[in-house]
Amino acid sequence: MPNVVFKPYEQDQMYLLPPSIEEMIEANHPVRVVNEVIEKINIKPLLKMYKGGGTSSYNPKMLLKVLVYSYLKNIYSSRKIEEMTKENIHMMWISGMNKPDHHTINRFRSERLKKVLEEIFSQIVQLLVEAGELSIQEVYVDGTKIEANANRYTFVWANSIKRSKERIRQQINELWKYAQKIAKEEEEQEEPEDFKEIDPEKIRQTIEKIDELLKDKPASKKIKQKLNYGKNNWPKNLQNYKRQEETLGQRNSYSKTDEDATFMRMKEDHMKNGQLKAGYNVQISSNNQYIVNYSVHQRPTDTTTLPEHIESHKEKYKQPPEVVIADAGYGSEENYQYMEDNNIEAYVKYNYFDKEKKKERVDKKPFTTEKLYYNQQQDCYYCPMGQRMAKVGERKKLSENKYIRQMTFYQAINCSGCPIRAVCHNQKTERTISVSHMGNYLKRKAKEKLETDVGKYYRKKRPTEAEPVFGNIKQNKNFKRFYLRGIEKVKTEFGLIALSHNLAKWALAIG
Ligand code: SF4
Repeated sequence: MPNVVFKPYEQDQMYLLPPSIEEMIEANHPVRVVNEVIEKINIKPLLKMYKGGGTSSYNPKMLLKVLVYSYLKNIYSSRKIEEMTKENIHMMWISGMNKPDHHTINRFRSERLKKVLEEIFSQIVQLLVEAGELSIQEVYVDGTKIEANANRYTFVWANSIKRSKERIRQQINELWKYAQKIAKEEEEQEEPEDFKEIDPEKIRQTIEKIDELLKDKPASKKIKQKLNYGKNNWPKNLQNYKRQEETLGQRNSYSKTDEDATFMRMKEDHMKNGQLKAGYNVQISSNNQYIVNYSVHQRPTDTTTLPEHIESHKEKYKQPPEVVIADAGYGSEENYQYMEDNNIEAYVKYNYFDKEKKKERVDKKPFTTEKLYYNQQQDCYYCPMGQRMAKVGERKKLSENKYIRQMTFYQAINCSGCPIRAVCHNQKTERTISVSHMGNYLKRKAKEKLETDVGKYYRKKRPTEAEPVFGNIKQNKNFKRFYLRGIEKVKTEFGLIALSHNLAKWALAIG
């Protein structure tokens, strides 16, 4: 036997003074940061979520610490969190040896936290501001799509509802015409029906009328079968479509397993088949790679989410940020106007900002509307051949967020025989362009700002801000899919992710 020395191993060793768990927690461990920070905040809003009466409840402060620490350790499942409270020494310490079961954890996360997490989040951000870690005045806005906890194949599409309704409309119309034709031979018929608008009641009544008209008449078997099918299915289907349209709202799809989730294209497309997945559009504002604000949206395009996102910043901190930096996905007339109205300094690119800077692009498309000369005094444009394009009309365009864009139309006098027509435009008549003068003015202002030294600084810094935050959440924290269903619960879940991201970063900074 070689001379090996083993360290003492005595499981039954008696201690004179039993060791405390507190002693076992390292001085700089992130669990201490979670504990300290949550001890500092005001949890009165959370206490208000309890009605009182009945049996005793677990301390909400303890449950909040347990949840935030679990999210910080990338544990999101309530069953696994329950397991941690029994097996993980740090968790035992922060929970004060309480062992809430997964139902309690889930109820607390889905119900009690729902209305107060944003308030708790903003209090913690304020602590970070006081510690000099970040600023809520200068924010970088960006978004990402996160998959919903929904089945990929249980989708409802607005277009398919439209098509199904159209099919019913056509079929009832055909049946009605057929019944009238058959009955005509014997008696004078009612006015023809108008099936432009159909609803379950109208379809039910029409089928009854057709039944009456065809009673004892030699109608074809196929027609009778169709009528029978319509009687059993169409009113019920239309009722169903009505409910689905209400759920859709302005969206063009939703998932049956999470009706708040919309089908959207995800950045992570591992199968590389471009398949849309049910998900949510998560927007964040960051500063110094901390999350200052978050909001969750059902619409896939980032452009439409900006005003609502900034409004949520105003709600959290009672004022808008002073400076907003974002990429070209946010540079719309509506967003520029919104930021101007809120006295926000916007360093936000528009669609063609980068392309304009590349000379070869300019040469590839030399005749786009933006490159035509505008004579402000005479309110007219000049086409590439020098022809005057006079104003021919105006129209107001309403956006999804109810912003009104004033569009003005200008038209060339005569394009026939023009030698460059093929490269100038492909309209059937004379070239007509539509222009928003307000949009052009705001774009010019944005361009001027982006080209200042400050603008250049923000443009250079932008990719190092929000993008690494999403990288940390999706790659390091492995949070690629929500666990909960419904937009309110999803908001709570992302709030916990944002909180744990901030606290982990703070722990690193002070550790
Ligand atoms: S096609 Fe019409 S608008 Fe274009 S350059 Fe010729 S005349 Fe002008």
